[in-house]
Amino acid sequence: MRLISYQSPTGPRTAALRDDGAVDLNRADPAVPDCMKKLLAQGPAGIERARQAAAKGQRVPLEGLRLVPPVPFPDKVICIGLNYADHARETGQPLPPEPVVFCKFPTAVRAAGAPIVLPRASSQVDYEAELVVVIGQGGRHIAEADARRHVAAYCCGNDVSARDWQIGKPGGQWLLGKSFDSFAPFGPALVTADEVPEPGNLKIQLRLNAQVMQDSSTAQLIFSIDKLIAYVSTVCTLAPGDLIFTGTPPGVGMARKPPVWLKPGDVLEVEIEGLGVLRNPVVAEE
Ligand code: ZN
Repeated sequence: MRLISYQSPTGPRTAALRDDGAVDLNRADPAVPDCMKKLLAQGPAGIERARQAAAKGQRVPLEGLRLVPPVPFPDKVICIGLNYADHARETGQPLPPEPVVFCKFPTAVRAAGAPIVLPRASSQVDYEAELVVVIGQGGRHIAEADARRHVAAYCCGNDVSARDWQIGKPGGQWLLGKSFDSFAPFGPALVTADEVPEPGNLKIQLRLNAQVMQDSSTAQLIFSIDKLIAYVSTVCTLAPGDLIFTGTPPGVGMARKPPVWLKPGDVLEVEIEGLGVLRNPVVAEE
């Protein structure tokens, strides 16, 4: 099942994609929450109830809906750096002995189709295609062997990065360069985990204006999804709807000679096998 959120007069509501349309899940069955985080928190039983609601509910055309990020207000946007061996090499970094973890402010999230806004304050904005893991039932100190039980869904993500802020600011931390508004588009829909039996073996690609810039497989991940969930939950409680951007393969703009920076009018597409295409236009900040 593919889950989205759309804007209604009373706030975001959950829906499931069906054929060329969408079904509002809470209208089809009031037992299904209208809030994505609450739905994900219910785990597999909630997903199954949503699936039945999607099958029987009334379908509306997708064009009539204003999409918002599938999880409109995630508590945490956790990101993993240098998690593909080839990408670590292209940045000149040694392979990390344990995961490199940073985060983005949740205000950076955007839906598929929403513009990525190039900030006036940066002249070096880059793309990063990533597999995003969406947490269902939360928890702390999750064992690697139990990690999958906490994953509700997967989707595509773009870890948009202002390299001049990521690398050039005092303190050496990446938070600001990764957190400009619109720098965390994800989607186009959450694909429930039951439809993704092998998330560690999916083709992943980024296209800039239809030209392939990154082309790899999640089989290249240094730290597996299960390891990442165990590692991060050592530190903090994972909550329903938390996002984990799992790192990017080689081919980022920064590593090219000459470097490739995003400009207004560009179109970025992240495609992951079985998860659809996340397409976002690039615009200048007004
Ligand atoms: Zn990244």
